[in-house]
Amino acid sequence: MELLVEDADIVTMASGAATGPTREPARCLLVRDGRIAAVGPAGPVRAAAGPDARVVRLDGATVLPGLIDAHCHVSDVGYLAAGADCRQPSAPDIPAIQARLREAAGRTPPGAWVTGSGYVEYQLREGRHPTRAELDVAVPDRPAVLYHTSLHACVLNSAALAEAGFADGQPDPPGGAFGRDAAGRLDGVLFEGPMFALFERNFRADLARMSAAQRAGLMQGAGQHFAALGVTAACDADVRRDTLTAFAEADEHGALPMRIYGLVVHDQVDWLLESGLRGRHSDRLTADAVKIWADGGMSSRTAAIHGSYPVAPFGSGILSFSRDELTGMVGDFAARGFQVCVHAQGDRAIETVLEAYATVLGKADGPGGNARRHRIEHAGAMYPALTARAAQLGIVVASQPGFLSTLGDGFAAAFPQACDQLYAFASWRQAGIPVAGSSDAPVITASPLTGIRDAVLRRTAAGQVLGPGERVTARDALDMYTRAAAFAMHREDEIGSLEPGKLADFVVLDASPLAVDPERIADIQVLATVLGGTPVYQASGQFSGVELGG
Ligand SMILES: [Zn+2]
Repeated sequence: MELLVEDADIVTMASGAATGPTREPARCLLVRDGRIAAVGPAGPVRAAAGPDARVVRLDGATVLPGLIDAHCHVSDVGYLAAGADCRQPSAPDIPAIQARLREAAGRTPPGAWVTGSGYVEYQLREGRHPTRAELDVAVPDRPAVLYHTSLHACVLNSAALAEAGFADGQPDPPGGAFGRDAAGRLDGVLFEGPMFALFERNFRADLARMSAAQRAGLMQGAGQHFAALGVTAACDADVRRDTLTAFAEADEHGALPMRIYGLVVHDQVDWLLESGLRGRHSDRLTADAVKIWADGGMSSRTAAIHGSYPVAPFGSGILSFSRDELTGMVGDFAARGFQVCVHAQGDRAIETVLEAYATVLGKADGPGGNARRHRIEHAGAMYPALTARAAQLGIVVASQPGFLSTLGDGFAAAFPQACDQLYAFASWRQAGIPVAGSSDAPVITASPLTGIRDAVLRRTAAGQVLGPGERVTARDALDMYTRAAAFAMHREDEIGSLEPGKLADFVVLDASPLAVDPERIADIQVLATVLGGTPVYQASGQFSGVELGG
């Protein structure tokens, strides 16, 4: 079975295929058995097709390799999508959030917490977090939780505080804090540590309550969300026993509309080794990397830095492990053949991680020493000396250009001197570091086109350009979300560019991000997303009835 895609503006991202006067542009793509059989000018590609090939004409639409998100939380996206959508501007104030939580309560199964997500306190009309009392008005008789979009904070109603065991007068837990009212009573807001523990506990409990079919449906829904944004593959940056099992269930039922590369949380590795799920489950599901957190976040000012923050809570951030502890963990997982991916945002954390990597890699003799492609996740404050060190060690970075437009003003406030050196994509790439593009969704939108725009413009919501010298071209930004992201997940031989023999993962857009005004890149419409030759999303129906398998 063959599919011939005609009359398209095809950006192959193949090495050496940069547009030039001597190369004819690619207009046609031939898919055979889920893989690319030919791509290039119309004549030779048509000649390679059999007489029964099914033809889809795209009338000049743009075709890109399927976009790849090297660090996000696919299962969290699916989980939160089932609860109340409390994002701004559609939920502009606390009464709107209350109405949505009330509505969600009506469809939340008995025993489960009523869940909402997506709010940003300074975008609400009230300009602050909602309180437990306000959540009690909406959901008086059972636990309810409202997650902040960052997933670094949440608000609980009184029933939820009681069920979680949090009481007035309790001191702040290590690695976190409670919000309190003027009288010192808990106001329902949790920050950091207790928030992470609560999210994990609730997510696990809700997954356990579901049937296998419901769990597969959750993963399928998440995959459809990504497919509609043009994403065909993603690294899920914190899979655990229950989520990896749910991905495997969905995969076995043919219900995974994207390729998942799982970063397994470090304390789940013993389970992973017994589960039989390590490595390649199918061409849609792989778990061969381990995730470790070295510090906190940039927007919550918990990233571990040298010096201290000039804004609340005025500390130096939180380092989760000493250098020796980290070296021990990295060495242990590397010895077992895993790719290690360490979350590190602040310069003090990145320095510690690089020291651990240098010890484990045993030599600082340049690229080639890091055969497992150990990664740093985020790398926000990876300043020039650290960049040089990372490049020397051959470290791969997975980072998030889309933070710049959504969280960038907060970065500028927290790093008044160094904000031009944060997320230094151009410098990193010039140093030879493979820089994979990603979203960290659901922290921000999963749209790779937003990330590509932000890598090009680097403009915050308030209009400030952070690090104008770190802007990259649209082609380099696209490379981050295709070839570099495929490399970061050890799949560059199969995905990340449109070349004969590779999997037929591609996305059809109504305009090319390489041709439009950069201001417009995030507004480009995804017309179709095709995975292994099979359409998994289509806005316009051109691929109706095409089923090639892959
Ligand atoms: Zn993340």
